Amino acid sequence: MNLAHWLSRAGRAIPDAPAIGFGTKTVYDYRALSLRAAKLAGGLLALGLKPGARVAIISKNQPDYVAIMFGIMHAGLSGVPANAKLHGAELGYILEHSGARVCFVSEDMEAEVASHAPKSLERMIRIKGADYERLLAADAVPVAEVSGDHLAWLFYTSGTTGRPKGAMLTHTNLNWAAHAYLSEVDETNTGDPILHAAPMSHGSGMYIMPHIAKGGVNVVPESGSFDPQEIFTLIGKWPRVSMFAAPTMIKRLVDYNADCNVENIRTFVWGGAPMYVEDVRRALERFGPRLAQIYGQGESPMTITKLSKREVADSSHPRWLERIGSAGTPYSCLEVRAGDANDNSLPAGEIGEILCRGDIVMQGYWKNEEASAKTLANGWLHTGDVGAFDEDGYLTLKDRSKDLIISGGSNIYPREVEEILLKHEGVREVSVIGRPDAEWGEVVVAYVVGDAGEKELDELCLSNIARFKRPKQYVFVDALPKNNYGKILKTELRERDAMGKKKGKQNG
Ligand code: AMP
Repeated sequence: MNLAHWLSRAGRAIPDAPAIGFGTKTVYDYRALSLRAAKLAGGLLALGLKPGARVAIISKNQPDYVAIMFGIMHAGLSGVPANAKLHGAELGYILEHSGARVCFVSEDMEAEVASHAPKSLERMIRIKGADYERLLAADAVPVAEVSGDHLAWLFYTSGTTGRPKGAMLTHTNLNWAAHAYLSEVDETNTGDPILHAAPMSHGSGMYIMPHIAKGGVNVVPESGSFDPQEIFTLIGKWPRVSMFAAPTMIKRLVDYNADCNVENIRTFVWGGAPMYVEDVRRALERFGPRLAQIYGQGESPMTITKLSKREVADSSHPRWLERIGSAGTPYSCLEVRAGDANDNSLPAGEIGEILCRGDIVMQGYWKNEEASAKTLANGWLHTGDVGAFDEDGYLTLKDRSKDLIISGGSNIYPREVEEILLKHEGVREVSVIGRPDAEWGEVVVAYVVGDAGEKELDELCLSNIARFKRPKQYVFVDALPKNNYGKILKTELRERDAMGKKKGKQNG
């Protein structure tokens, strides 16, 4: 089934219901939005594009993003949503690698994209520009007949290392993702808004689909990105609002001093990176039982495990602290296991690579057979994440194997140390890495944003974790290196560390 039917149906069934909000206002109802998508589809087909041709979108969040995304699917074409925050050279790579023939681009990105555009790109269409209006002048066309295994999106993974890879996501994959979200994370009904403060080209964009399927409102902040003051204003304006946010964004909201009508919040969904227990507790204090977690990746579109609002808030449960530090239990649409070297399931408590399989999993990486074969070996998606299930079936993610520190022959998981350091009220952010060391193999080094005494931090570690796990050095910095999705880049931190850009004292 072509997912564009969702919008087309809503255009008939609930034409007057709000579909797209921009700031505090509704800009398109379902009649207008569905007509826009059908006309864009007509306009794209008139350019001579055939089913499966790739069409990229490079734009920060804006109201027409949804119309374009659905217009592409409506025409049976395949969308390539690329993050506008990427460097021009990276965008050029994605355009070339995907073989996109057309690229929708926002005005602010036009020059940057143009200067890196590959030869294969035939047309750049500025959103809201003259060419765009010409597309919209086309006749609306019916939704293209495509099967569920037709390529809907080429989803380039953010890649904390190396070149981004294009996960091939079909209509069926995205259909599962939408329904998994609706049934297990966030019940949504007609008129329920979702605020896109994170890039629509990535995690937040995944939630456009379920909100269209259910007749919800996709709301774009006027700033086009994440501004805590604006978020609080919009929460006040849009009752029953949900939002997908990286943990760093939730943390900034918690720390931001503004009035907030928390009753208006339906769900804050965090994911994309680990959220520390202490931060979850503080978020619960501020926003109440309105937080849920998802764990996923582009290859199994934002859907591997989830921790529901009820589980996050149930502090009466004897294992509540472990649970809010976990990534929850698998979504019902797929199998998930911690696997050994032969992909066999490990018993509870044993750490292995997280594997999953099910109809939601991508078809492979675009034009990269080697990586596809490796990642999908034995019919399992090899996530590259490591973790362990407990007896109750809750998954706790450990650090990626490249982040694991081996010091004096003992394994040290950075997150465990980070969780402890964050208990100190002066520590705003922290990242723990291993530094090569002739004597120990590696020693533990903590990069800290905030204001805390080394001695206090050391004592905190001594009273909570094994001696050998405590940092040998603290390096105080103004900010940690992060990618465009707010994920801390440990690889870059290690490189910086190796280059000796450090100050601080060695611990005894
Ligand atoms: P991406 O495909 O760019 O969205 O990155 C996905 C990766 O982010 C996963 O493979 C995990 O390493 C990490 N990730 C996603 N969700 C979570 C979560 N809830 N907790 C910890 N790490 C996460």
